[in-house]
Amino acid sequence: MDAKSTKLTTRKREASTSSKRGTIDTYAVQCETCLKWRKLDNQEEYEELRSRIHEEKFVCNQKEGMSCEDDARELRYDTSRTWSIDKNGLPKTPRGFKRMLIMRKDYSRWDAYYVAPTGKKFKTRAEIEAFIEANQEYKYATLGDFNFIVPRVVRDTVPSGIPVKNPKPSKKSV
Ligand SMILES: [Zn+2]
Repeated sequence: MDAKSTKLTTRKREASTSSKRGTIDTYAVQCETCLKWRKLDNQEEYEELRSRIHEEKFVCNQKEGMSCEDDARELRYDTSRTWSIDKNGLPKTPRGFKRMLIMRKDYSRWDAYYVAPTGKKFKTRAEIEAFIEANQEYKYATLGDFNFIVPRVVRDTVPSGIPVKNPKPSKKSV
């Protein structure tokens, strides 16, 4: 088993509301013991686990009321959702800030940005650095904890009908 697949974020194949389109709706982690995928409560729990997964592997009973025998609450790794594999060990987003991921329309990749407590958005670490420099009340936030590495989209779980990223040149292409 590829160690990098320990942790994933997922996105439903079809969003039920247009406002949610292109964003993550489910966070999940895979148990080291039974290999079942478990749904996490929210982004914060997910980021917490992701940041220390190298030191502390996830097993089902770390989650309250969960055990490896619980088959009913297994999150199936199938094509009913589009899955994306995240990089393990990424830092947890500094308090007050929010890390956002938006899926490109062609499902080729995610784009990451951060939102400050003020609502200001950042697409680069340099922008964040300038913001913190100008707003000393956010000095507590470690610059290295902002990371723009995005999860890799699992190609096989992209809905059919979405053109692949590098289609072969075709005379009929539109
Ligand atoms: Zn388990």
